[in-house]
Amino acid sequence: MRSVTILGATGSIGTSTLDLIERHPDLYRVVALTAARDAEGLAAAARRTRAAHVAIADPAKLGEVRALLAGTTTTVAAGLDAIVEAAAMEADWTMAAIVGTAGLRPVLAALKRGRTVALANKESLVSAGALMMAAARATGATLLPVDSEHNAIFQCYPHDAPERVRRIILTASGGPFRGRSRAEMMSVTPAQAVRHPNWSMGAKISVDSATLMNKGLELIEAHHLFPVGADRLDVLVHPQSVVHSMVEYVDGSVLAQMGTPDMRTPIAHTLAWPDRMATPCAPLDLAKVGRLDFEEPDLSAFPALALAKAALAAGGARPAVLNAANEIAVAAFLDGRIGFLAIADMVARVLDGYDPPAPVNLDDVFSVDTGARDVAAAAMRRVA
Ligand code: NAD
Ligand code: MG
Repeated sequence: MRSVTILGATGSIGTSTLDLIERHPDLYRVVALTAARDAEGLAAAARRTRAAHVAIADPAKLGEVRALLAGTTTTVAAGLDAIVEAAAMEADWTMAAIVGTAGLRPVLAALKRGRTVALANKESLVSAGALMMAAARATGATLLPVDSEHNAIFQCYPHDAPERVRRIILTASGGPFRGRSRAEMMSVTPAQAVRHPNWSMGAKISVDSATLMNKGLELIEAHHLFPVGADRLDVLVHPQSVVHSMVEYVDGSVLAQMGTPDMRTPIAHTLAWPDRMATPCAPLDLAKVGRLDFEEPDLSAFPALALAKAALAAGGARPAVLNAANEIAVAAFLDGRIGFLAIADMVARVLDGYDPPAPVNLDDVFSVDTGARDVAAAAMRRVA
């Protein structure tokens, strides 16, 4: 039996992970589940899986979670430290599926255990990739990418001979506004932006997919996971989301990983790795898909991708500033405080106005993150 922890258990990735685990109660024992503030979702998941421990970030929800778990043996804790403590509990496998920089400390705590971390929280690699990779190396932790593109690359990548790679090509669905001009995206609503054509995901990543910032964050994520050089990372728009990414070798061979767009496939890959497990995902029916299309991304209509590429090339604190500004801007868009096009504008403005030195430790990363959020909040007040 393998012991597992799910950080962000109530979210889109968290519930997909629970779905797989609950199909094999004989194989997995749940150590800890965490959530931000969904007391009911967290308690229900803990009851179903007989989790040993749960942690909720919002301290005001402690009583509610306790009441919902009365009569069980599940222990309950609350607060941000409690999330980090849950991440640090002994477990063979940890799913890191908290959204945003809130995932940073928990991911690091899980890596420090030196076991297997399935990483969905891309923001931790964007903001603190070098530190995360160094922590994994130092403890011997196994870092398995959950993000479908990175999971695809991981499956195609020559881990023992990266010099054989000429290029890594990340595919992008193009999001719900593919093919539109900026003028045509002027008045899109949060409801339209989160309606992704192929994937069902949390609100933040859905907006990131609509701006193409998601692909930009993923380029930075790939740069840390697969160190072939930023100039060897490319993006290709592929609206069917069947080819999840590709690795081109020096001899011209291109290996691709394909599948129906269902996150349970990459999650299952990390859960069973290095073995394979059966999933309930619909098998890929290429005859039914019929055709696979590819096109270059439109950087002028989707400037967020260009901003992320520039941040990756510049390195230092730029990716952390980009990520923090984007989190603030996306939250403001979802709240109806700024328009869709203002997301990338806001990120550009923060990058222009704030250029701190490269972070060398996690405290530096947090001070860059806080600094960028302050600049973003001030810029937001001027816009609003
Ligand atoms: P989501 O919004 O559906 O879920 C986020 C989870 O994190 C929830 O359980 C929430 O309670 C928890 N959380 C949020 N803020 C928190 C905080 N401050 N402290 C502690 N916990 C907090 O998000 P999601 O779509 O499941 O995405 C999770 C991560 O996985 C993101 O980094 C996203 O980019 C990445 N990812 C998601 C998908 C997908 O298909 N959903 C695909 C690839 C990568
Ligand atoms: Mg992805």
